[in-house]
Amino acid sequence: MKLKSFLTLCAFFMVSYLNAGPYIVLKLDDIYAKKGESPVLPVLDFLAEYNIKSSLGMIAALSDTTASRVLAPYINAKDNKGQFLVEIWNHGYDHRKPEFKGTDYDYQSKHFVDATRKIETLLNIEIHTFGAPFNAMDSVTGRIISENANYKTVFLADKDLMKRHDIVCLNNLVRIERDLGKPDFDFFIKKYKIAKDRGVGCMVLQVHPNLWDEHSFQEFKYIIKYLQTEECIFILPSEWSNIIRSWE
Ligand SMILES: [Zn+2]
Repeated sequence: MKLKSFLTLCAFFMVSYLNAGPYIVLKLDDIYAKKGESPVLPVLDFLAEYNIKSSLGMIAALSDTTASRVLAPYINAKDNKGQFLVEIWNHGYDHRKPEFKGTDYDYQSKHFVDATRKIETLLNIEIHTFGAPFNAMDSVTGRIISENANYKTVFLADKDLMKRHDIVCLNNLVRIERDLGKPDFDFFIKKYKIAKDRGVGCMVLQVHPNLWDEHSFQEFKYIIKYLQTEECIFILPSEWSNIIRSWE
């Protein structure tokens, strides 16, 4: 192990030891911005107020040229340690089923590359993380992700599908939504405690803010505040991926 890797590992365990809670990746699905608006903004305002990092899965086809104006303030925002609060990831081109499972190479490749290009151009960013619509992908998807060198992290995927060994799969999903789009505090706490007792180092919390009503948003707020009392460390997918790769 290289000295840099060793020091990173030491730092990681120091942080883990000093903090009671596990690492948390917030996975916000089905995000878009068009006509100067996005339904996710109240959630991002809440998270920014509490200095909490989150990752946004963009559906490329649903966003227009106003996306940068809408999302840039959040993409550029930093927490009180000077670290970025938001990571944008590729959640498919049109999110129409089937998009990345059971379709052929040309279809998947076009959707993957077009989505990457459109989101990167609209938001003037680079994307390093992919999460398939419906978390549905196959070996063709794994090959395409592996062919795109900028991609380093994939949500909820079988590592064996990847052709590159340096791709990190974030797989420890801890359910926060009892039903689709319905975050539930009591439901989540049970799942969280089980995962924590199992020693899960990094939990993925997947939500669909577009579907929330006021009650759902309130449940989410309670959950976030609870996780803060647990001294969880909110981390971006790429940050977690960098930690894992530094060990290898
Ligand atoms: Zn989705």
